[in-house]
Amino acid sequence: PKMKGGLGILNLGLQNDALLLKYMNKFYNKADVPWVHLVWDSCYFQRIPHDTILCGSFWWRDICKLMDKYRAVTFVTVGKGDSVLFWSDHWEIDQSCIPLQERFPRLFPFCLQKNLSVMEVIQAGNVQQMFSLPLSELAFREFNQLSSLLFGTSLDNGCNDIWAWRHGKKAEYSAKKYYDFVHQPVIANPILSWVWKSFCTMTIKMFAWLVIMDRVNTKDMIHRCHWRINDGPSCVLCPTGVIEDRNHLFFQCNFSMRIWNYLQVSWLDSNDMVQIALHARKKFNKPFFSEVVFLAWWNIWKVRNDRAFRHVNPTFRQ
Ligand SMILES: [Zn+2]
Repeated sequence: PKMKGGLGILNLGLQNDALLLKYMNKFYNKADVPWVHLVWDSCYFQRIPHDTILCGSFWWRDICKLMDKYRAVTFVTVGKGDSVLFWSDHWEIDQSCIPLQERFPRLFPFCLQKNLSVMEVIQAGNVQQMFSLPLSELAFREFNQLSSLLFGTSLDNGCNDIWAWRHGKKAEYSAKKYYDFVHQPVIANPILSWVWKSFCTMTIKMFAWLVIMDRVNTKDMIHRCHWRINDGPSCVLCPTGVIEDRNHLFFQCNFSMRIWNYLQVSWLDSNDMVQIALHARKKFNKPFFSEVVFLAWWNIWKVRNDRAFRHVNPTFRQ
């Protein structure tokens, strides 16, 4: 996503998962569709799908690989309780949907059968039977907490379990929610948002993106790829012989410095791109800062290429 520093091009693998998870969503919620009934009846009679070995058609087995991903982003409001694992699924009890094995970590190791469904546990009624006795002191304390939790819980046999989206308000699963959720931990460079908000043409926006991400094919980059550079890795716009990298070419080179002075843009001497940019914009104190800078970058790059490939001497006027 653009807001996460990308170019807004869909990651097709991820998008594919997000769309296939819609099948999972229909399946777990027992949607009234023939294939859902068929799969439940033929493969999972009185069994919990994610606690059953892969079965069913080739197509279904392929989709089953996404079960864990689906369970990781959803929670369950228990109805019958026959599709939910008691210990490890995110089902809602006492206004929390943290799995019970995480809520009762001392008690869980004493549990005899770790893959019981919610229905099986609650119908059995006798919680004590579930554990190998005697319990440790800490486990016993958790046992009491669990018993009182379960005391107030009952099943609704007329109603299927409802699997819903866990992160955010609207509980319906959607492919977009999943796609955005996966990208949530990505922390983007805030300057990238200037690129898409600017009024430049797409070519220049793309080039600005490359500069900010340090993906322009400057000589240091080519050097790192072990390609041969005929005239050496130093900057072609100034005689100092400094290696041409992004920071030199677009900010510190004598040639660029002349341009920045002319445009009244001043760059801090720092390694933090965000800090440099924010400081420069504040100092510039006129509208269209990003447009001015992006156009200047683009033109520096053109002059540099003219010099490197066509041996045109760089002139400030250009
Ligand atoms: Zn230079």
